Amino acid sequence: MRLATAEISFSALAHNFNKVKQFAPNSQIMAVLKANAYGHGLVRIAQRLDQADAFAVARIDEALALRAGGLVKPIVLLEGFFEPQDLPILLANNFQTIIHDRSQLEALLASELDGQLITWLKVDTGMHRLGVTPEEFDDVYQDLLACQNVHPAIRLMTHFACADDLNNSKTQQQLGLFKQLVQGKAQQHCLANSAAIVGWPDSHGEWVRPGLMVYGVSPMLNCVGADHQLQPVMRLKTRVISIRQIKKGDAIGYGSTWQSPRDTTIGVIAIGYGDGYPRHAPTGTPIIVNGQQVPLVGRVSMDMITVDLGPVTEAKIGDEAILWGPELPVEIVAQHAGTIPYELLCNITPRVDYLYR
Ligand code: PLP
Repeated sequence: MRLATAEISFSALAHNFNKVKQFAPNSQIMAVLKANAYGHGLVRIAQRLDQADAFAVARIDEALALRAGGLVKPIVLLEGFFEPQDLPILLANNFQTIIHDRSQLEALLASELDGQLITWLKVDTGMHRLGVTPEEFDDVYQDLLACQNVHPAIRLMTHFACADDLNNSKTQQQLGLFKQLVQGKAQQHCLANSAAIVGWPDSHGEWVRPGLMVYGVSPMLNCVGADHQLQPVMRLKTRVISIRQIKKGDAIGYGSTWQSPRDTTIGVIAIGYGDGYPRHAPTGTPIIVNGQQVPLVGRVSMDMITVDLGPVTEAKIGDEAILWGPELPVEIVAQHAGTIPYELLCNITPRVDYLYR
């Protein structure tokens, strides 16, 4: 039996999906499942999202894995396609592509396909990552309309850079520019990621594309999922594999970076960066052992971490340790580790067992 386990709660998943619907009652929902459904298991999660109107992934191989898993819903490729030879695969599998660059338009114009692809034209309204510029938007739109390989009901989208921060006016600017550009064009618009679904109701178009919130994690700065009545879907847990007494001044682990200020009991816990626990989680990062919050001390190793159980403890070998989950929001752990919950979730490695319930 593997020690480190990611317990996945299907009831929390269903709850969060219903929350998305409550936040955006008039929008269709494409559930974002890229990066192995944010580390939760691509096909298993997709199978439980039968109320989603579509799925969205980043890469073609993720979309093909969904089809191989028997999922038949429309799938949107958020990064689109890169090679002209991908186009027949998209068509054969009912994948919708995003067009974010003129090179894709050129490939479409130059191809001979046996049907018409459903496309989403992405405009860069300020994130400056993917998307055609506002200046070229009209031309690309017209060229797509005229392209026989493209379904004429072209859909339009953009992506927000700062929607997680309600005090940042950039989201309103992006929204305003998008509205201005798309006026009179196309019926299907999609702008909102989780943060915009929660924080910017004006941005809910005909479609929304939630990722993080589906997994019960807050997309907003300095919040946790419970602040928006979301329920964490993943509980990452493992076991205590050794307990040892140390003296005041004894140092723990690689580099001897932490010295105990007092005689205490150290618990050794079977999880490390080889399982996806963040290597940079510092001393003080909370961990729950036997229902009690204790601090990580010393460096995270590949297979183990160490916690200070305190001078007096009833903890014993075999006890449960929770790294994050409903009892300990992954947002808090991410804050300690100087990262974001997205990274922690999708960094879980294949060494971790999955338990779906
Ligand atoms: N849309 C696009 C284009 C994305 O890249 C992502 C995720 O990074 C999402 C939607 C979903 O974002 P979130 O997980 O913040 O809801």
